[in-house]
Amino acid sequence: MNLPERQARIDLSAIRDNVARLREIVAPAQVMAVVKADAYGHGAVPVARAALTAGAGWLGVAHVSEALALRAAGIDAPLLAWLHTPSTDFNAAVAQDIDLGCSGWELEPIAEAARALERPARVHLKIDTGLGRNGCPPENWDAFVSAAIAHQDEGLLRVVGVFSHLAVADEPHRPETDGQLDRFRQAVAVAEDAGADLEVRHIANTPAILSRPDTHFDLVRAGLGVYGLSPFEDQSPHEFGLRPAMTLSTRVASCKDVPAGQGVSYGLNYVTAGPTTLGLIPLGYADGIPRAATGGPVRIDGITYPVVGRIAMDQMVVDLGPGGRADHGGTVLGAEAVLFGDPALGDPSVDDWARAAGTINYEVVTRISPRVPRTYTGGIPGGAA
Ligand SMILES: *Cc1c(COP(=O)(O)O)cnc(C)c1O
Repeated sequence: MNLPERQARIDLSAIRDNVARLREIVAPAQVMAVVKADAYGHGAVPVARAALTAGAGWLGVAHVSEALALRAAGIDAPLLAWLHTPSTDFNAAVAQDIDLGCSGWELEPIAEAARALERPARVHLKIDTGLGRNGCPPENWDAFVSAAIAHQDEGLLRVVGVFSHLAVADEPHRPETDGQLDRFRQAVAVAEDAGADLEVRHIANTPAILSRPDTHFDLVRAGLGVYGLSPFEDQSPHEFGLRPAMTLSTRVASCKDVPAGQGVSYGLNYVTAGPTTLGLIPLGYADGIPRAATGGPVRIDGITYPVVGRIAMDQMVVDLGPGGRADHGGTVLGAEAVLFGDPALGDPSVDDWARAAGTINYEVVTRISPRVPRTYTGGIPGGAA
């Protein structure tokens, strides 16, 4: 068996199918595939290409530096970056035709970059409808819009979008989303009355895409759903027609019999109750597996075992039971060990690991570290993706 030592395998056909499914859900609105943070750990460039192949009309990232990397890879699709600092290279962004989210202070440096380049910047004005992070506070919105339109009249920028971000869309029963939508609609009306010729109005993230059709407007910003994960505790991705794109696997590095009373891993927090066989899994917190996730599942030859003892930097241990796997001649050394993948294929899920670690599926996939090689399947033969 020539299995890789460890890999995060990304199925690009799942990415394409998920984008197609999201498009179906939000039509006639368009889909922006959010590929920040290296596409939530899946690889920004291959995911971006697959998403565009499947009809995503836009790409979204947090940082201008992430957007520039996509442009450098030859991706020329509409592209929005929304989280800036005074060190952000707005000149490069304007020169590379990257749309810029703008919450307030960025307006002047963006206008300056446009003046220097003699090329209008494309901006999406962001209103804080309640999340309390980025975005212009509603009290300042009228003045902010006026300042932006003044720059538009000077030819320095074009206000092409108004957007906002939801705070509790993953808890659809909560009332705050309605308030955010009211404030968003008002902000859009103010911008349009002031002379903005908006191409897109956008507020929905994946939870809103899946639970609130009234949030879709012209464009939705889909991250998690593109990767085939569900934002809801009690609903699987399959219930929405989505499937997980990443499978994280390695090979069993050691398989050995131990007596009763064997302590396992740092702290010796797990002690074998009787004679048993331990399997060593060569993935640890340096690979992005949360150290807190003792009990997380590892599937070996069709059987799922919980991790016992502490997860270390490079490795973790599963208790295979007495006799190890007798059907494998007493050893599973070298067998494929799958931490998570598509539960429809019997693999443990990203959500199982999120539960074991006390976190969310977003964090589990995003933190898989660069030490784990990404491999790609499901690309279109001879195609860009
Ligand atoms: C990350 C992000 C998204 C994507 O959210 P998902 O829940 O992953 O779909 C959308 N909009 C903004 C502003 C973001 O930062």
